[in-house]
Amino acid sequence: MTRITVAKGDGIGPEIMDATLDIIKAAGAKIEIDEIEVGEKVYLAGNPAGIAPEAWDTIRNNKVFLKAPITTPQGGGYKSLNVTTRKFLGLYSNVRPCMSLHPFVKTKHPIMDIVIVRENEEDLYAGIEHQQTDEVVQCLKLISRPGCEKIIRYAFEYAKQQNRKKVTCFTKDNIMKQTDGLFHKVFDEIAKEYPNIENEHWIIDIGAAKLADTPEAFDVIVMPNLYGDVLSDVAAQITGSVGLAGSANIGEECSMFEAIHGSAPKRAGQDVANPSGLLQGAIMMLNHIGQSDVAEKVQNAWLKTIEDGTHTYDIFKEGTSKKAVGTKEFAQCVIANLGQKPSLLKSVSYANNLALNLPKYKRKTPATKKLEGVDIFVHWQGTEPNELAQKVQQLEGKGIKLSMITNRGIKVWPDGFKETFCTDHWRCRFKAKDGEQMYKTDILELLEKAIEEDIDTIKTENLYAFDGVSAYSLGQGQ
Ligand code: NAD
Repeated sequence: MTRITVAKGDGIGPEIMDATLDIIKAAGAKIEIDEIEVGEKVYLAGNPAGIAPEAWDTIRNNKVFLKAPITTPQGGGYKSLNVTTRKFLGLYSNVRPCMSLHPFVKTKHPIMDIVIVRENEEDLYAGIEHQQTDEVVQCLKLISRPGCEKIIRYAFEYAKQQNRKKVTCFTKDNIMKQTDGLFHKVFDEIAKEYPNIENEHWIIDIGAAKLADTPEAFDVIVMPNLYGDVLSDVAAQITGSVGLAGSANIGEECSMFEAIHGSAPKRAGQDVANPSGLLQGAIMMLNHIGQSDVAEKVQNAWLKTIEDGTHTYDIFKEGTSKKAVGTKEFAQCVIANLGQKPSLLKSVSYANNLALNLPKYKRKTPATKKLEGVDIFVHWQGTEPNELAQKVQQLEGKGIKLSMITNRGIKVWPDGFKETFCTDHWRCRFKAKDGEQMYKTDILELLEKAIEEDIDTIKTENLYAFDGVSAYSLGQGQ
């Protein structure tokens, strides 16, 4: 018996959760359920996280959480419960299988069978944002080595366990050489440990185009958080319906399983919603808790039901579909098919589909770090970069020189183009002169002088070399 936490959520949530639980219990799932309340009611009761503190205790005690979709109320102040849960519980890996069910569910991509493994904790979803000037806001994109190692190793271990042939990595490291560059570098390092699994890297833009056009060219795809968020929805949609996909959020201790779609409030309470997405999440949960025999039985019965043409409204098509059903009847049909296998669709065998047990991240020996300069960001209303250069050159110390000014990353001084559009947000790069050593106190001096000269500094970024390699981007056009 495994004790799990269940949240029935909002909108169609309670109906699809009841259907899912009926099916897995009928298949013999050995689970005990603690139900918690999350979502709209909890938000509107004045809890901006959408969850009460006692509910966290239940989730953390049971460690396995099956969650129906929730409605996040419109308007400011409400935090996404999904993002909070993933980050609080360290659910670093979001696994989303996307498979076509041709010819039973209409799709342009009949032989698609891919799994997207999305990094779930960092990237732009760190949610660290600031307004810095009248005209410019920023969002910090944080990518860490532990974050990359954990998710990329997960993707390869998953591929190995599932007998998948290839792992593809998507990044935009031709532009973001530090952040996406690290993700790609770690991918290449870890890929070497799996010589029997093919590996490849695509730049995300052309990779995404290829995925939407020729998904059969891919198998497992691993990517940073934002790209994974967008492309996993694209991938699910092109199999025929977002209503059919589930996802697993896996951490070192806890895990959460869900459908990928939302709470579809317009369909709530009408017994019409398709419970398949949540059921797919529940099947991943059963594998995760070591009940693969039950998972396999449910998946084969579900495939048979789809194959029988027993379809909810979202996938119902005259011609291919045979019987239009609601949520409850769909669940009853799956239950009636337990023990059977599909004949045209490939049946599944989950003989060794246990939870992956990955090694814990080990911190590396720290590199030798040398301060080479500082970027001082300035809020300035002027338009002429030469004028700003003269102003900030007054800040130069004895061993430190202004080396460049950029505006939104593009070099505007020295030798800028008059055509370049400039905002009120300027990055002034100061570097140690050749042969001079720079210290943090030099930065303090620069900032103090800026106050004296009435220059509005808004932030600084230290420029470091790690083990002798300068680790910061150049100005575009530098
Ligand atoms: P949605 O996924 O709820 O609905 C999109 C469309 O798909 C609608 O036409 C809907 O009727 C249909 N649909 C979705 N699931 C279906 C199912 N199982 N069966 C049949 N049809 C289905 O997306 P939305 O309308 O953008 O969002 C509604 C609410 O859900 C919002 O409050 C949003 O914040 C929330 N949401 C929650 C989650 C989650 O909890 N994981 C995820 C996404 C959106």
